[in-house]
Amino acid sequence: MATGANGTQQVDVALVGAGFAGLYLLHRLRKAGLSAVAFETADDVGGTWYWNRYPGARCDIATTDYSYTFDPDLEAAWTWSEKYATQPEILSYLRFVADRYDLRRDIRFSTKVTEARWNESEERWHLSTDNGAVVSCRFYVMASGCLSAPKLPEIDGIDAFAGDIYFTSRWPHDGVALEGRRVAVIGTGSSGIQSIPMIAAQAAHLTVFQRTPNFALPAHNGPPLPDRVASLEKDRAGFREQARWSMTGVPIPPATDFSWQLTDAQRRERFEKAWSTGDLVVILTQLWADAGVDVDGNKLVADLIREKIRTIVHDPEVAAALSPHDHPFGAKRPCLDTNYYATYNRPNVKLVDLRREPIEAITPSGIETADGKYDVDVIVFATGFDAMTGAVLAVHPITGRGGVALSDVWAKGPKTYLGLTVSGFPNLFLVTGPGSPSVFSNMVVSIEQHADWIVDRLVAMRDAGFTTIEATEAAQAGWTRHLADCSMITLHRLANTWYTGANVSGKAQGLMPYPGGVGPYRGICNEAVTRGMLGFKLTGPGVAAQCNDGEVVRLQPDVRLVLNTLAEMNLPTIESLGPDGARAFVTQFNATRPAGRLVGEVVDGTLPVPGTTLPYRLYRPATPGPHPIVVYFHGGGWVLGSHDSDDPFCRDLCRRSGMIFVSVGYRHAPEHRFPTAAEDGYAALRWIADHAVELGGRPGPVAVAGWSAGGNIAAVVCQLARDRRGPPIAGQLLVCPVTDSDFERGSYRDNAEGYFLTRPLMHWFWDHYCDPADRRDPRVSPLRGKLAGLPPAFVVTCEFDPLRDEGIAYAEALAAAGVPAKQLQAHGHFHSSFPMVDVVITGAGGRAEMAQELRRFAGLNS
Ligand code: FAD
Ligand code: NAP
Repeated sequence: MATGANGTQQVDVALVGAGFAGLYLLHRLRKAGLSAVAFETADDVGGTWYWNRYPGARCDIATTDYSYTFDPDLEAAWTWSEKYATQPEILSYLRFVADRYDLRRDIRFSTKVTEARWNESEERWHLSTDNGAVVSCRFYVMASGCLSAPKLPEIDGIDAFAGDIYFTSRWPHDGVALEGRRVAVIGTGSSGIQSIPMIAAQAAHLTVFQRTPNFALPAHNGPPLPDRVASLEKDRAGFREQARWSMTGVPIPPATDFSWQLTDAQRRERFEKAWSTGDLVVILTQLWADAGVDVDGNKLVADLIREKIRTIVHDPEVAAALSPHDHPFGAKRPCLDTNYYATYNRPNVKLVDLRREPIEAITPSGIETADGKYDVDVIVFATGFDAMTGAVLAVHPITGRGGVALSDVWAKGPKTYLGLTVSGFPNLFLVTGPGSPSVFSNMVVSIEQHADWIVDRLVAMRDAGFTTIEATEAAQAGWTRHLADCSMITLHRLANTWYTGANVSGKAQGLMPYPGGVGPYRGICNEAVTRGMLGFKLTGPGVAAQCNDGEVVRLQPDVRLVLNTLAEMNLPTIESLGPDGARAFVTQFNATRPAGRLVGEVVDGTLPVPGTTLPYRLYRPATPGPHPIVVYFHGGGWVLGSHDSDDPFCRDLCRRSGMIFVSVGYRHAPEHRFPTAAEDGYAALRWIADHAVELGGRPGPVAVAGWSAGGNIAAVVCQLARDRRGPPIAGQLLVCPVTDSDFERGSYRDNAEGYFLTRPLMHWFWDHYCDPADRRDPRVSPLRGKLAGLPPAFVVTCEFDPLRDEGIAYAEALAAAGVPAKQLQAHGHFHSSFPMVDVVITGAGGRAEMAQELRRFAGLNS
C-alpha cells in the first residue's frame, strides 16, 4: 500500500467491515493482485459475531450451510460442533479464517470510517476515519453489514435509570452476571427470543416487555444433522452449487403442492415433520407452495403454530398474548428458539403485553407502563437494528458525482442497481445491499456471490483499461421497479418489520431485501455481465467509454422463471406439431399445472347449438346464490383448448368475483373454420342467457369474458348480440384478445419471438381458422366492426404479447365510439400470465381488477 505526501494511504480498494463479507473480499482482492485495506470499528474480526455476544446467541441457518464455500481446504480444516453454532464458535471460525489467510495485516481495527467523498478529477474516493487516518482509493466497498447498526430504543427516561443497561447487539465481552438480579428484557425478535430462556435461567426474576409477539420454532439443536452432513460430504461441490442456485442459499427444493391439494391430515403431517426438524428454511418452504405467498395458505401454518404455543404455555392468557395475530407467518423474520415458550411457565418469568399496557417511561428504578411499575436492576434492550441502510448511511456524508449525498438520494428509500451499486456514485459497491437477497438468504452464500461479482468486475475493468464503473439511472429505475414487482409476491407488506424499515421511526418504508431468490438473482447479475455490462457506464483513460444502458429485467419475476424454464425445456414449436399434436401437447402441459382452487360447485354439461351440442363447465361460487353469470370463452387460437383448459383461471375469477362462470367448449379449426367458433359462441351465449335460472344463476343480462382467441369470441358475440337483438350483455372482459388481422403493429415486431405466443404461431392459428379473404370480417376482426352501442368493456393487455397493441387499439376504439372502456396494460407480463393462476402469482392484482370489473358490470357491490 502506498502512502501519499500528506499521509494519505493510497490503495486500489478500501473496504468497510471485517465480518464474513470484509474478510472474504480482502482475500479475493489480494488474490486478484489488487491492493486493499479494510476498516473495522471493532478491535477484532467477526462483525455480527464480534458484537452480538448475548447469552444464547447462535446462527439460525444450519452450520452445514452457514460457512464459507470458496475453499474446499478450508471446509476440510474446520468442523462445526453443532447444528446451530454458538456465537463464540462462529467468532472462532472467523478468527481462524482471518489467520489462515493472513488477513489481519490489511485490517485497520478500532477505526471507524466517518466520511467518504468521490473526487471527480482524480476519480478516487477519499475516506476519513475517527482516528485521523485518511485513505484514497479507486474503489470503495461497503461491507458494513445489514444488521450492524443498532436501533435506538426510542423510550423516554433511559438516562435516568439507576441500574445497568445492556444491548444484545453490544453485549459486554466479559459477560454480565445476572444471578440474583431482577432483569427486564425489551424486545421479542430473534435476539430477545434466543436470550430470554438463558436470562430466565440465571436471573432472580425476568420481566419480558413484548410489543409484538413473533413466531418461533424449536431449533432442536444438537450435533450437525447426519443426513445433511452426509449429503454434503458425498458431493461437496454439487451441494454448494445447488445452494448457489437455490431460492434461499440452502439446497432444499421448495414444496410444489398447494394447500388446497392436501387434506387437513396431510397438512398436519407435513407441519409436524417440519416442526420436529427445527429448520427455518424447511418450515418456510417445505409445507405447501402457497404458504409464503397467499394469506389463506399462510393462515393454515400460522394456526398450527398458534396451536403449538397453546400446548406449550400453561396459562391460556399468556399463550394468547404470545400468539402472533398481526402479521402473516414469515412476513417478519421468524425465530428459532430453545425453550422459548416453555420459559413462560417458569415462576420467575412474567410477560408484559405492551399492546395492553404500553411503556410510558423508564424511571430510576425500572419501567413504568400504563398499568403498572416494574422495578428492575437490569434492562436488556433486544430492540433490533436500523437494518440494511443504517450502517451505510452512518458514514456521513457519502458524496458522489457533483457532491450529491447518498442520504439525499435515499431520502425516500434506498435505490440501487442489483443491490450492488448506486447511480451517481461511481466505483462504490455495496455488499448485500438493499435490493439484493441478503437477509432473505443464507447470508454467506450471498456474501460470496457479491464479493466474487465485484472482484471479477474489477479485474475485468483493469484488463480492459477501465477505471470507473457506474450504474445508469435507467438501470437503477428498472431494478427498483423489479424489486417492487417481486415484493408483490410476498406477504412482507402485511407486517411491520425491519425488512421494510417499519421498525425505525421516520425511515422511508419499502421492502429492502430482494425476494426473487438467490439463484434467480445470481442469474440476473451474471446476465448483466454477459449482456455487455448492461446498465453500467465504464470509462478509462485511453479507452472509449462504454455505456450499455438498459434494464436487465423487464419481465415480472415469475414470468421470467416460466419463460426460462420453457426455454430450458427446448420444446418443439406448437406449430410444428400439427393440430392433433398441438392439442395433445396442451393437454399434457395442462396436466402438470397446479390444480385450480376450490369453488362451491363444478358442473359439466352440454348445451345445444345449431348442428351439434357443445360441452360446458359451470363454476359456482361457494357463497349463497343466485349469482350473476359470466359466459367464458377459452384461449387456444381457435384451434386448441377446451371448456376445461382454462380451469384455474375460471375458478380464480369465480372465487374473486362471486359470479358463476360457464366455460363453453366451442368447435375448433381446422375441422370447423371461420365463422364456426364465433357462431358457436353466440349460440351458446343465447342458450346460457335463456337458461340462466335453470343453471342456478341470476336472471337478467349476463357478462362475457374470454382470453386470447376466447377474448376474440367474447368481443365478437357482443357485436352479434347487439345486431341480433340480444341477449343483453352486462359487460365484456377481454383478456389479451385477438381483435384484428393486422400483423404489422409494433407489438408483433417487439414480441415476435421469445414470449411463448410467437408471431409464427399466430400466423398458424389464423391460417387454420380463417381464409385471408375473410379476415376483415368483424366476426373475426372485431376492431373492424361497428363499435357504438356495445356493452362496457374491460380490456387487459400484456406488455410482452404480440397481441398487446391490437388489444389497446380495441379499447381505444371502443372509447372513441362512446363505449365505456377501461384498460389494464399489465407491465412485465406475457400472453399467458393471467390464466397461469398459481404459477404467475404477480398476475393476482390484475385478476383482482378483472373480478372487480365483472362485479361492476353485474351491479354487485365491491
Ligand atoms: P457484519 O458481520 O455485520 O460486519 C460488518 C462490520 O462492519 C461490523 O463489524 C461493523 O463494526 C463494521 N462497520 C460498519 N460500519 C463501519 C464503519 N463506518 N467503519 C468501520 N467499520 C464499520 N445470517 C444468516 O444467514 N444466518 C444466521 O444464522 C444469522 N444469524 C444472525 C444472528 C444475529 C444475532 C445477527 C445480528 C445477524 C445474523 N445473521 C445471520 C445476519 C448476519 O449479519 C450475516 O450472516 C453476516 O454475519 C453478515 O456479515 P457482514 O460481513 O456482511 O456484516
Ligand atoms: P428485531 O427482530 O427487530 O426485534 C426487535 C424487537 O424489539 C421487536 O420485538 C420489537 O417490537 C421490539 N422493540 C423495538 N423497539 C421497541 C420499543 N421502543 N419498545 C418495545 N419494543 C420494541 O431485532 P433482533 O431480535 O435483534 O433481530 C434482528 C434480526 O437479526 C433477526 O430478524 C435476524 O435476521 C437476525 N438475528 C438472527 C438471530 C439468529 O437466530 N441467528 C438472532 C438474532 C438476530 P416490534 O416488533 O413491535 O417492533
